[in-house]
Amino acid sequence: MFETPGLDNLKVIDNAEDPIMKNRDIKIKINTAGVNPIDHIVVSGMLPKILPFPHIPGAESSGIVEQIGSHVSNDNIKVGDRVVVHNKVFDGTCDMCLNGLDMICRNGGLIGAITNGGFAEYISVPERNVFKVPDDLNWDVAASLPVTSLTPYHALNEASVKLNEFLLVFGASGSTGMIAVQLAKKMGTKVIAVSRKNWIKTDFGADYVINDYDKVVEQVKEITQGKMAEIVMNSLGVGTWESSVESVGINGRLVTFGGLTGADVKLNIQSLYRKQIKLIGSTGGTRKELLDLITIAGKEGLKVKVWKKFKLDEVKEALQALFAKEREGRILLDIT
Ligand SMILES: [Zn+2]
Repeated sequence: MFETPGLDNLKVIDNAEDPIMKNRDIKIKINTAGVNPIDHIVVSGMLPKILPFPHIPGAESSGIVEQIGSHVSNDNIKVGDRVVVHNKVFDGTCDMCLNGLDMICRNGGLIGAITNGGFAEYISVPERNVFKVPDDLNWDVAASLPVTSLTPYHALNEASVKLNEFLLVFGASGSTGMIAVQLAKKMGTKVIAVSRKNWIKTDFGADYVINDYDKVVEQVKEITQGKMAEIVMNSLGVGTWESSVESVGINGRLVTFGGLTGADVKLNIQSLYRKQIKLIGSTGGTRKELLDLITIAGKEGLKVKVWKKFKLDEVKEALQALFAKEREGRILLDIT
């Protein structure tokens, strides 16, 4: 937890109080937590609202049900079940929520940002945020569903991917990238992965790999025989922005949900409207989409490549590792 924002202020506390449990809450013993850029943003104090203080970060968690509140109505969830936490706080009554878009609730926010998060041994969350996963689903995958998988899945849906379209994924061997590649293949697109690693093709099913970030545009041109990609997914931000825009074909879509290399980009509006390009922002995902992912992860299998797993008291190193140039794959916290 931290009392003042800043990575150096992050402390591991041995005698933290148990989370406060309301009647409709479920208390979870965390097994594995995902480490994501959003956690770094929270710890650095780059969000306008962080509550409570001292604050426990952690936006992506999975674990075992420890205790069930007295007014919880979901009979399907029992003590001992494996679950993941949908990380959105939402009121369920605003126009966005009524439309099924609880991740952009007008009065909402993120678990781990406006509430304490899952970089802890226990978390207590409302029952509607708790989703059961199959008993045989491995923890690395479970801890990668609520943010790392949900984010690119929702982005693919927002970009209305269609059968046989070319999808260009930047940072394909990163956390969300490798999931995007697998899901997009299941959705019937032809995936061009931008990555220095060939395992994204051999192990994760990308149709093409572009290893050289400087040659993306010319190689996309070659692969698509001049048409360029129907959809470009860029969650890396400014570093790959120019080649993202240039790689979108006529009537194509450019979707973004992150800006790891910086968020301030330059855009020539003509380059957008002359080709009738749609620029799409995407954030999180719906509870229905999370349910889809749990089903897919269990039945068809969803693979996660873990780069490094840290213990809870190495949380600073884990957050710093997000920016390691040599990173390929996920960073997780093992909280068993
Ligand atoms: Zn709402």
